Amino acid sequence: MTTVAAVEMGGFSGTRQLGGGEVLERENPARTDEIVGRLSCSTPDEVSVAVQTAAAAGRSWSQLDVAERAEAVRAAGAAVGAVAEELAPLLARELGKPRADCAGEMGFAAAWSAFVADRVADVCADRLVDDAQGRLLVAREPHGVVAAIVPWNAPLILSMLKVAPALATGNTIVVKPSPVAPFAVTRALEVLASHLPPGVLGVVHGEAEAGAALVGHPQVAKVAFTGGEAGATAVLHSCAETLTPTVMELGGNDAAILLDDLTLDAAAAERLAFGAFLNSGQVCMAAKRLLVPRDRHDEVVEVLVEAAGRVLVGGDPLDPAVTVGPVATRVQRDRISGLVEDAVSGGATVIPLGRTTADWDPARGWFVEPALVLGARPDAPVVVQEQFGPILPVVAYDDEEEAVSLANASEHGLASSVWSDDVERAFAVARRVEAGTTFVNCHNRAGMSLRAPFGGIKRSGWGREFGDEGILGYTRTHAVHLPGALRAAADGTGGLAGNAYPGQ
Ligand code: NAD
Repeated sequence: MTTVAAVEMGGFSGTRQLGGGEVLERENPARTDEIVGRLSCSTPDEVSVAVQTAAAAGRSWSQLDVAERAEAVRAAGAAVGAVAEELAPLLARELGKPRADCAGEMGFAAAWSAFVADRVADVCADRLVDDAQGRLLVAREPHGVVAAIVPWNAPLILSMLKVAPALATGNTIVVKPSPVAPFAVTRALEVLASHLPPGVLGVVHGEAEAGAALVGHPQVAKVAFTGGEAGATAVLHSCAETLTPTVMELGGNDAAILLDDLTLDAAAAERLAFGAFLNSGQVCMAAKRLLVPRDRHDEVVEVLVEAAGRVLVGGDPLDPAVTVGPVATRVQRDRISGLVEDAVSGGATVIPLGRTTADWDPARGWFVEPALVLGARPDAPVVVQEQFGPILPVVAYDDEEEAVSLANASEHGLASSVWSDDVERAFAVARRVEAGTTFVNCHNRAGMSLRAPFGGIKRSGWGREFGDEGILGYTRTHAVHLPGALRAAADGTGGLAGNAYPGQ
């Protein structure tokens, strides 16, 4: 084992450092003989302190004018954007994600904070109606302390989607990142917190025990969870006990439907390659099943192989030429390899994609060679499960009906895409796909927009991040009503006659 500039880190709450629990080591997934850092986990007592500190800080934070909070969030987000180049190498080393993508996470923190700051006053404005039915005020109020549970694949983006709107709307928040990629996100959130009143943003660390202590805390008023099904189920059991509301952002098995009229030119094929293989396929909204017209199957495969040869370059994520790093953990690598082996034993063919940098030895880390999987059975695990790795099954279909029904034959409903030269046709097909998002002629990050609400249906979750909806989710309505005609309940209508229901 070699140790190259290993960082030592724990959580924080107000001015207090947290980390009296177990110490976890994290290796560099691209060079597994290198320890990136040691993480001091938070004890359940420390998690409780973080929540209590956030609750206390919320008393004054929630009373600030919304414009004041918005500007504080904008400035704090900009400060994170300013340390992008400093933190990108640390994120690349702990996660295995290419360095430019890592810097993009810090840039996202600034951009999303600015979007929230621009929108929050309008989105959460009081609605006041004064008419014959009386005076109605619908106010938007914060929940209180938000618990954010975050996975490793985009740790800062997925934290900021919760932190910026939660804070701007007057909540305070405690974040628990994943121990798989805890360091850069903690540094970034420390920078953010240094521009905010003490205690409004805290970070705790650890595995399920710390997460359970956080979501189960009686002073937590809302849980925002992003991750997989096992963690989601445990969190929901806990929230059922405390009746705590949730937003759940879970996994997907996105279908990319190529319609028969599509011109798959070089640019489109490269967009498709990144749509599937960005961050080694470890993106919730990556293309995870490619549905192609049967009579264009071979052509599509050929064009994709050529495009991948140009744009997918495996190697050390710190090398600027590299676009595909390792997967994050040994467990992930073994699971993905198992899915491919199972498909091959069922008669599928594997077509490797891309290339590596000169002299790079993939055996140094948790590398999985990007590949297309052809001819897998429709019910093979590689088709029906979220792979979360750089492999893409190609499924042939006979007509548009079958394409839509194959896309919808999934327990998941996160994102999807429809590709066509005819945009009207693509939008019409998109409306028939069961998903929270359908991209047109792109997939994954290239299709994301700050203003477009994002989240799943079916087993992909509920609630929304991004867009105005991603701000509203951190508020609850408070209706204050003076009826136009005050009646005694004894009139037999329960006091509702004449003013309650439209059409009465
Ligand atoms: P995971 O569920 O293993 O971990 C997510 C977080 O939950 C981590 O912080 C983990 O420590 C915590 N956790 C685990 N068990 C817990 C428990 N019992 N109580 C409280 N917290 C607990 O997920 P992962 O492997 O880190 O992430 C991969 C999954 O996340 C994939 O399925 C991916 O699709 C999904 N994801 C979804 C979105 C989205 O926006 N829908 C975005 C990114 C990732």
